[in-house]
Amino acid sequence: MTTDSEARAEDGLPPLRQVIAENGLAARKALGQNFLRDLNLTRRIARSACDFAPGPLSEGSIVEIGPGPGGLTRALLMEGAQHLIVVEKDPRCLSALAQIRNAYPGRLEVVSADALTVSLADLGKPPRRIVNLPYNVATPLLIGWLREIDRDPACLSALLLLFQKEVAQRLTASPRTKDYGRLSILTQWLCEARPLFDIPARAFTPAPKVTSTLVALVPHDQPLAPARMETVERITRAAFGQRRKMLRRSLKSLDVPIAELLETAQLSGAARAEELSVLDFCALARAWDAASKPPAN
Ligand code: SAM
Repeated sequence: MTTDSEARAEDGLPPLRQVIAENGLAARKALGQNFLRDLNLTRRIARSACDFAPGPLSEGSIVEIGPGPGGLTRALLMEGAQHLIVVEKDPRCLSALAQIRNAYPGRLEVVSADALTVSLADLGKPPRRIVNLPYNVATPLLIGWLREIDRDPACLSALLLLFQKEVAQRLTASPRTKDYGRLSILTQWLCEARPLFDIPARAFTPAPKVTSTLVALVPHDQPLAPARMETVERITRAAFGQRRKMLRRSLKSLDVPIAELLETAQLSGAARAEELSVLDFCALARAWDAASKPPAN
């Protein structure tokens, strides 16, 4: 069925339905392919990329991961993106993306690659915003970008990411809730995280089984507290691997003198992982790194 908003493509390019049919883009589940065909919705997402990052879309680089047939790509260009870089793994989408590139000379760069293998340094210059839709790889991509933010908080000015609703809830969860975990800590340590709006399954073709939530992340100027990310990752993995256990038990797998670390970080061994704040985990990570350093001569 063609919706009104599909038929009213203001950019003169063919409706997405036609693009999908002409390029034989039968959706592949392994690539998380659920395409957005409603141009009202794609424009709403594109506008969010302006609202939640400093400056208009015409400033700096916008990186879109997984453009597919280009619904959101077209919306970002219509909303004024001047340097848009799209990274798409499925070569079947390249001809549709080339058509868009020709309609917007000098404004669209198409990278045919797996986004998991591409470094941010190869994708435009800061200030850089990311818009990411493939939620089949959303979490590993997010962890990779958080590592890049840890190394250089100015490498990204904002991220607009689509997650399965349950994962989005984890990113923004507070301590002592069931959703609070490793992803909440790593994300909130480095970024301000805000859920924007839900996108119902029926907005996609084919419809996925889950509701999605668009989340905006804006990197803090510096992390909430000093710590080495690698250590925070290790400690949170161990602590939440057994989230119901007391820390003195759950951290045992780390094979370090837990009682001393907890004392240095001023934490009780009887506490559970979900009771600790981001700052508590940073204190624990610092205590660990201090204890692991070889003694000075
Ligand atoms: N943005 C498009 C839209 O609005 O219709 C498509 C979204 S679809 C949910 C996800 C897209 O990400 C697909 O085009 C898929 O081929 C692509 N994709 C999946 N995994 C990827 C990866 N690792 N690197 C780059 N693109 C990927």
